[in-house]
Amino acid sequence: MPAIAMTHSLNDYLRLSISRYREQLKQGNAQSIEVSYTHRSKPYQYSIQLSKSACHYGNYRYWWLCPKCSKRTSVLYCAGLYVCRHCIGANYGSQLQQPIDRLFSRLHTIRQRLGWQEGIAQEIGERPKGMHHSTYDRLVTEHEQLTAKVWQASLDKLGCTS
Ligand SMILES: [Zn+2]
Repeated sequence: MPAIAMTHSLNDYLRLSISRYREQLKQGNAQSIEVSYTHRSKPYQYSIQLSKSACHYGNYRYWWLCPKCSKRTSVLYCAGLYVCRHCIGANYGSQLQQPIDRLFSRLHTIRQRLGWQEGIAQEIGERPKGMHHSTYDRLVTEHEQLTAKVWQASLDKLGCTS
């Protein structure tokens, strides 16, 4: 199974966006990315499986498959293992005591517009029939940025960024 090896230190990467590998993924047919890093003095080495879906102009959009629950996601968060926001949310969500209202309400609006299931921990959904690819891409990107901000705020609270 083809894989891209990624052996540099991941200590500083608390979130791992699939877009980081966009250029490398274009060049081959990778089905997984091998990661190896040390988190809080504990060594980790494993492969993260990938999934791809057809995009406009014959391109593909790549997704992570969460190592824990195998859900498709574009960003993984470090909780020792890199996991999706659903899995990290299951661990840390209860500690997110102060919802970031504006971000949450914008997220809610985007998910409604896309007809996706409600809730920040839910996975990225498909493009609704009749919506332009460019609109979908823009909303997905904004959704990604908003969820990253929300989770970054929650990680800050947990002291994970020091
Ligand atoms: Zn997961």
